[in-house]
Amino acid sequence: MSKLRNEYKRHSAKVTRGPRWKALRMQALDRDGWACVQCGTRHWLECDHVLPVKTHPELSYTLSNLQMLCGACHARKTRIEVGHTPLTPKRQQWRDLLREMQRNPHEHKENNHADF
Ligand SMILES: [Zn+2]
Repeated sequence: MSKLRNEYKRHSAKVTRGPRWKALRMQALDRDGWACVQCGTRHWLECDHVLPVKTHPELSYTLSNLQMLCGACHARKTRIEVGHTPLTPKRQQWRDLLREMQRNPHEHKENNHADF
C-alpha cells in the first residue's frame, strides 16, 4: 500500500470511529438498499465518502456525501483518487466477471460474509 493511500485511510479513520459514524452508516445502508451503488452486489459493503474526508472534512458526517460501495468498487475509486491509473480493461473485465458470478444466486448460494 502506498504512502499516499495510507494517508487517505488515516483521515477517514478519524471519522469512522465512534457511535456517530455507526448510526450514519446504517442510514446510508438503508438508503442504498444494502447494496453497492455501482455494481449492486450485497457483499463486502463499505461506506464511502463521495468527496474524501481529506479534502472535505466538513462533509464527513453528511449523509448525502456517503455511498455504499463494495470492496472492489471502493478500491477502484480510491485508486483513482490517490492518482493511480485504473486497472487495465482486461483486469477490470476479470473482476467484473467474478463479481457477476458472486451475484448470481442460481450458481452461488447466498452467504453472509459481508462486513457490515
Ligand atoms: Zn461494487
